[in-house]
Amino acid sequence: MISSEVYSFYQTVISVGCEEDSCHGLLRPHVVWFGETLDPDVLTEVEKELDLCDLCLVVGTSSVVYPAAMFAPQVSARGVPVAEFNMEATPATDRFRFHFEGPCGTTLPPALARHESEIIA
Ligand SMILES: [Zn+2]
Repeated sequence: MISSEVYSFYQTVISVGCEEDSCHGLLRPHVVWFGETLDPDVLTEVEKELDLCDLCLVVGTSSVVYPAAMFAPQVSARGVPVAEFNMEATPATDRFRFHFEGPCGTTLPPALARHESEIIA
């Protein structure tokens, strides 16, 4: 989406009101908008997962918005394989072991499909 479309969408979403008679509060999805800070408890959990994971998939992100943009490079720096799925290369692509270029609806299913050599435990 171009920025005017994003802005228009954003205005539509944040202007949805609660339909309860006595409330009239604004409803919003459970997302973080540009300009908002991330929940510190969530970031703490993310740090734990980044230290533990043995594979990281980065799907459909530009890898330019921090702090999320540093997550996968941080994992990759530990020697853990990172696979990026995106329509184009990103500033972080060179730091990852794998890059799957194209729509993630096309590239993800075969990448995640069970391989014939996999043993089912
Ligand atoms: Zn309400």
